[in-house]
Amino acid sequence: MVSLNEETGVDMWDLDEWSVRLRRDALLLVVLAAVAFFAVSAGFAPVYALAVLLLVALVALSRGDMQSSKAGLAEPVSQGADQPALAALMDRLDLPVLLVSRAETVLLQNASAETLFGPLPEGAPVSARLRAPGLLDMLRRVMESGETDELDYVERIPVTRAFRVRATPLDATRFVITFTDRSGLQRMDQMRTDFVANASHELRTPLASLRGFIETLQGPARSDPKAQERFLGIMLDQVTRMSRLVDDLLSLSRLEIKSHVAPDAKVDLVPLVGHVIATLQPLAESLGVTVTFSAPKEPVPIRGDRDELQQVFENLIENACKYGQEGKAVEVDIRADAETGAEVSITDHGPGIEAQHVPRLTERFYRVNVEASRSKKGTGLGLAIVKHILNRHKARLVITSEPGKGSRFSVRF
Ligand code: ADP
Repeated sequence: MVSLNEETGVDMWDLDEWSVRLRRDALLLVVLAAVAFFAVSAGFAPVYALAVLLLVALVALSRGDMQSSKAGLAEPVSQGADQPALAALMDRLDLPVLLVSRAETVLLQNASAETLFGPLPEGAPVSARLRAPGLLDMLRRVMESGETDELDYVERIPVTRAFRVRATPLDATRFVITFTDRSGLQRMDQMRTDFVANASHELRTPLASLRGFIETLQGPARSDPKAQERFLGIMLDQVTRMSRLVDDLLSLSRLEIKSHVAPDAKVDLVPLVGHVIATLQPLAESLGVTVTFSAPKEPVPIRGDRDELQQVFENLIENACKYGQEGKAVEVDIRADAETGAEVSITDHGPGIEAQHVPRLTERFYRVNVEASRSKKGTGLGLAIVKHILNRHKARLVITSEPGKGSRFSVRF
């Protein structure tokens, strides 16, 4: 927590308190002197008059002290005095918070704000932190009106982050600014919109081509059996592609529904992966790829869902054969380690993947090359499904790839 003393007003309030006290005590002395003068002139023995006056003065001073220390807890002094407590409270909040003065300097900055903006020099002007003019205008409006206000703000460096910034008065001289990170929500919104757009586009393309072929069959190709046969073959391909896409979309939405429930059946990875390799053998052969398999002799049991895990390895091994076809060899390895857990890795020797694509491969419909994926009967959803299944299994997909040499997709349980 950075605590800035400027404008907290603690010292200033002490000085003020002393000047108030001096003025009040001087007034008391004048009143006492006047009373003593009249008492002595009225015939009171000076000694008695002095004793009574001293007593009255002592009582008055002690009461004055009590009142002044009570007043010390009230308004002005409290504004500075409560700052350590405010600092402690702010530090316990996990959203960035600034406490600023009316002179637009930062009085307190909590740990989250320090992480966000970096450490502040003492008494830093708010404008050093909130560079967007809209934010300062809002703060000034709040200072003038005393009413809470908020607006959206985008921080672009070091990475783009979107915040809802809220400014609200704490008291007459101090204002609280909070920053709620909305980047995640915005990204989710964007992904959802992209997903609907992509899914519609993927379905619309084969539908449009089907319509075109049907029209041709009804018209120009009505009496051309050769063309009819060729067109019907293409139409079958399109329909198959559409149903693959719909199957993948349904798989994804089923996985989303149960994403919070961890699977609890016991599955041995060795026969499961062996079975997947056997079922993909015809595809590998047709592509001229040899798949080799190495696994421990003993079982490698994990907690999981057999069908889902089968789908994971099917997708990964099929991708390795399809995209790594030119390497002609795919290696599947299972390793079990008592400390690090089980790992299944699938290595191909194909063209590999450029580094900038790697983090995005598991996004829905993300493909390095859309045409290449389509020509290999891809939907762009395979790795998204893999990621969803692995999340549910508390497992991780690690992708390493060297362009020109090949890729490795490892699943770590
Ligand atoms: P698709 O249905 O297109 O195969 P995936 O989600 O399975 O969709 O894969 C996404 C993209 O990742 C693919 O289109 C391809 O560009 C790339 N990819 C996946 N596996 C490999 C691999 N072994 N080698 C090279 N690129 C790969």
